[in-house]
Amino acid sequence: MPKFVYDFTEGNKDLKDLLGGKGANLSEMTNLGLPVPPGFTITTEACRHYLAEGAVPAGLAEEITEHLTALEGTMGKKLGQADDPLLVSVRSGAKFSMPGMMDTVLNIGLNDESVLGLAAQSGNERFAWDSYRRLIQMFGKTVLGVDGELFEESLEELKHAKGTTDDLDLTAADFQKLVGTFKGIVRERTGREFPTEPREQMDLAVKAVFDSWNSDRAILYRRQERIPTDLGTAVNICSMVFGNLGMDSGTGVAFTRDPASGQQGVYGDYLQNAQGEDVVAGIRNTVPLADLGQINEPVYRQLLQIMETLENHYLDLCDIEFTVERGKLWMLQTRVGKRTAAAAFRIACQLADQGLIDLNEAIHRVNGDQLAQLMFPRFDAAAPKEQIAKGMNASPGAAVGKAVFSSEAAVEAAARGEKVILVRRETTPDDLTGMIAAQGILTSRGGKTSHAAVVARGMGKTCVCGAEDLDVDVKARRLKTGDVVVQEGDVLSIDGSTGAVYLGEVPVSASPVVRYFEGELAPADGDELVQSVHRLMVHADAAARLAVRANADTPEDSERARRFGATGIGLCRTEHMFLGERRQLVEDLILATSDAEREAALDALAPFQKEDFHGILKAMDGLPVTIRLIDPPLHEFLPDLTELSVKVALAGADASDKDRRLLEAVHRLHEQNPMLGLRGVRLGLVIPGLFAMQVRAIAEAAAQRLSEGGDPRPEIMIPLVGSIQELEHAREEAEQVLRSVGGEVKALIGTMIELPRAALTAGQIAEGAEFFSFGTNDLTQTTWGFSRDDVEASFFSRYLELGVFGVSPFETLDRDGVGRLVRIAVEEGRRTRPDLKLGVCGEHGGDPESVHFFHEVGLDYVSCSPFRVPVARLEAGRAAV
Ligand code: PEP
Ligand code: MG
Repeated sequence: MPKFVYDFTEGNKDLKDLLGGKGANLSEMTNLGLPVPPGFTITTEACRHYLAEGAVPAGLAEEITEHLTALEGTMGKKLGQADDPLLVSVRSGAKFSMPGMMDTVLNIGLNDESVLGLAAQSGNERFAWDSYRRLIQMFGKTVLGVDGELFEESLEELKHAKGTTDDLDLTAADFQKLVGTFKGIVRERTGREFPTEPREQMDLAVKAVFDSWNSDRAILYRRQERIPTDLGTAVNICSMVFGNLGMDSGTGVAFTRDPASGQQGVYGDYLQNAQGEDVVAGIRNTVPLADLGQINEPVYRQLLQIMETLENHYLDLCDIEFTVERGKLWMLQTRVGKRTAAAAFRIACQLADQGLIDLNEAIHRVNGDQLAQLMFPRFDAAAPKEQIAKGMNASPGAAVGKAVFSSEAAVEAAARGEKVILVRRETTPDDLTGMIAAQGILTSRGGKTSHAAVVARGMGKTCVCGAEDLDVDVKARRLKTGDVVVQEGDVLSIDGSTGAVYLGEVPVSASPVVRYFEGELAPADGDELVQSVHRLMVHADAAARLAVRANADTPEDSERARRFGATGIGLCRTEHMFLGERRQLVEDLILATSDAEREAALDALAPFQKEDFHGILKAMDGLPVTIRLIDPPLHEFLPDLTELSVKVALAGADASDKDRRLLEAVHRLHEQNPMLGLRGVRLGLVIPGLFAMQVRAIAEAAAQRLSEGGDPRPEIMIPLVGSIQELEHAREEAEQVLRSVGGEVKALIGTMIELPRAALTAGQIAEGAEFFSFGTNDLTQTTWGFSRDDVEASFFSRYLELGVFGVSPFETLDRDGVGRLVRIAVEEGRRTRPDLKLGVCGEHGGDPESVHFFHEVGLDYVSCSPFRVPVARLEAGRAAV
């Protein structure tokens, strides 16, 4: 039978899969000799068993008893013992941190008798009753499912009756009364008494934590953060220490470096006479951690020393939760801390400079998603702006939107396509939907470690928190500051890098990281961030095996892609050159009724194509340019069937001849499943002269480049091939044209692999192809049978909810299905032609996780949109080391 329970002395930091992040790190700290209150962890395996079977695994109860007995021995008192109770916390802790998403219950073991024992032992009656009411409140809400507002309201009423707004003004008798009220709420809402038997409390809390893995907000958070749905959570049972025993006690959060900037120093918040959740929830305003130096100097010094120990041990930024109980410091949690994208780059380089990690490790400390975030625009420094408040720079970025004061309003506005700033006094985990829907989050309370700040940073959302000048009235849907009143719907701009809040819309400008990639800002002239990005990009490029090309159809995009570090074009979609005024020429082609008309239409298109190809080959001089022959169904170039029918019907006898012919053509070309219809290579084989015109334009453009002394490297790509025969027909035509143009022009001829049949017969197809480029958009569409244009907006959210997949297969490559086809095609293609060049040009070419897969299967390059090129370069480097 597997072991389901580990004492904190038995685990270590590498057991996150089994013990969750919190449990593994509590063990690690215990082993480092740091002051961790004794306790034990129930494994994620027990949780998975419980979630699958609906019951805890056999033997778990006995194992818990064994560890509890040992804990009671260590502590010298029993759980809930009447005269001197051992109290424990029951905390969730999954492999990946999910701040505030799952449940925690503190003060387990209190009941009507043990509360008196606790009062006597602590000599603090008020504290004992406060702890008891907190237990009923947390237990009622999280374990018994009672609406938490009911408890909050009773507390507020009591304070109101006493004419105070501060918990600290409440007495032991007040809390004792509240205990009675809270028990009444539990009785009324659940039809049962609050359970007073300590072990029952503990067992119910453990199950509630297991269940909270599948709470709506946890599911939503996992989807947002792409955390797998089937990991389950561990449960930590930890002997309680108390930060609410008086002013010599307190609780706090610390970072070994600033999670927003990466600067080394003392960062965090401290709250005197309070229990853990008060800080993270942002319920009361905290003091800066450095103030602890005045409050209790020895504890402060010990904490700094522990922070240093942890950073040197984890070789990374750590965040810490701690409690001071009557002047004694206790560590309640540590983990490698979440940080902003900019801090991630800076910290990676700082750690490398300190010699703590090497550059290979440094590029693993950052990722493509973070780099993408750094490329977002920011507020234009020169623009006039009206600053109305300043809060903490909790998560960077420049966000502009209409103020909304509830998550519901944020979600509704986002559904209407509006950009919003979610304004709250503080956020709670229930605000997750609104935070996802908003451009940015603004709160008037709470520090950099408040829920809003932690969650926003994790999501890469702009956040300003603790803007205390703002008087936020959520019920009235407005905020006030000085004379300024902002109503719901008024526009705000918030700067997550400085904490500034502006009234109205502030214009944004390019980020320095983009200016660096554009070559406008030399690394030496940039700030620490630009220098860090430069350094890590240079290392990634040197380490990478995969080349990175761009998908681009214009000379301008090609030039930008090249500046961004692309080493070629992996996909030039030639049909994009048929839009705008040239659409008319395509219409002429479609409407042609004789060979002569068709040839005339093609002759009219050819010069435009040649000019475009010339520009792109020039921009990519010396680098490969894969030009794909026309792919989409021709009806895409014709007017909409319904609109045209109405137009012709309304015109009646006056309808133009052209419109009638167009309508006839639209009918003729109409298909039930156009994506499976006349497109790609099929068009080339059915419409005489179409592919030939394109190949001639490529050859002539290349010949012109050669005559100008250039080095053109065109590659001609045939789309949507399913069989070698299709490819051979297209190829013969292309070779004939190339020969007819003559001269020195050389072009590889290859194909896209974007149909399952192409992948499965890749060994044959490679006989006619000098290169393959995986079109993973169509390959995903045809492998799953999902319409790429429809499904994401229709049923994917349900599929994500059901866990059919954790992320859309159009976003991140489905390794098991589509990936298997890619592997087969790579192996069989190379078997036929060992020097076959292999790339990918579907959207997945710019997706970090997919880039790692393409590295693993041995492709030569990935190709993605110009703005994703730096992301793919970084990921290609990370995949290689
Ligand atoms: C693909 O299918 O992956 C591809 C790159 O082609 P398109 O998106 O143009 O169909
Ligand atoms: Mg395609």
